[in-house]
Amino acid sequence: MYRLLLISLAMCSFSINACLQTNSKTKASMSSPSNTPWFVDEKGDTIRSINKSEAEWKESLDQMAYYVLREQGTERAYTGKYHDNHKHGMYYCAGCGLPLFSSETKFESGTGWPSFYAPIDKTHVQEFTDNTAGMSRTEVTCHRCGGHLGHVFDDGPRPTGLRYCMNSVSLAFEEK
Ligand SMILES: [Zn+2]
Repeated sequence: MYRLLLISLAMCSFSINACLQTNSKTKASMSSPSNTPWFVDEKGDTIRSINKSEAEWKESLDQMAYYVLREQGTERAYTGKYHDNHKHGMYYCAGCGLPLFSSETKFESGTGWPSFYAPIDKTHVQEFTDNTAGMSRTEVTCHRCGGHLGHVFDDGPRPTGLRYCMNSVSLAFEEK
């Protein structure tokens, strides 16, 4: 009887340990959301994350795109290809092709960077606090590949009042 009790105690502590390990894993992946293996978007589609090594990104992106998407760089104002683009269509992530912004929400911000008041799907982008460069800003990244897109500010037009200030080089436009 005593032996049985010991065995069941041992099994119990094993399952508790297993449970704790699972929990700590879940917490770790939640603290860096871009590393979650998938997410469900507003349409209900499951989007699988893309996790490439930095060497693979270097191979698939040109120098400027790598600098902005993977190293949180910023292109100089008025130098990108989309700040003055007035065509109708969709802007995709230049890193992974996820649809991010529609021309319907693009507006003239006068900043020299393509600006939108809303993403095509709120779950397709992620936002993080960015305290670099002596400022407190909100960084916007692609939810599927973690690529840096730009920043979002709260001085945009109606209906959202938001200004998604994006780097052209982080986007790939396809005309409708
Ligand atoms: Zn992406």
